[in-house]
Amino acid sequence: MTKRNMYFTVKGTNHVNFNLTKSFKYADFHCKCGGKHPSPMNLDFVFKLEKMQDILGDTFKIAKNINSGFRCEQHNKTVGGSRSSFHLYGKAVDIGTKDSTERYLVCRAAFQIGFGDISVAANFVHIDDRDKKQMRIY
Ligand SMILES: [Zn+2]
Repeated sequence: MTKRNMYFTVKGTNHVNFNLTKSFKYADFHCKCGGKHPSPMNLDFVFKLEKMQDILGDTFKIAKNINSGFRCEQHNKTVGGSRSSFHLYGKAVDIGTKDSTERYLVCRAAFQIGFGDISVAANFVHIDDRDKKQMRIY
């Protein structure tokens, strides 16, 4: 797939909501700092998440479990994110999982799509769109 850098965002507000795709709304990815700034997500990344949701079907809804989508620099610092975090570029999500079955479902679907980074914590799975393929354990 060719890499495009398309973003959809709304200037000056973080309190708007509309559909980016069938399963994802702009607000699903809003920075959790509470500030009123745009949260521009990379559309190729969101389209991949949509394909991942197609695989998961009704077994697991990604949008309802996004712990972290876009992060501004300040919020990324607050949560101890890496300085080169893909959350800063709208190319990462942390998907909350409540048990090992959900972790399995999320990881399996993410591998099928072929995300660069699929990293696992006890209660979430981080997915991002880096070129390098890697997997970490938090
Ligand atoms: Zn923020």
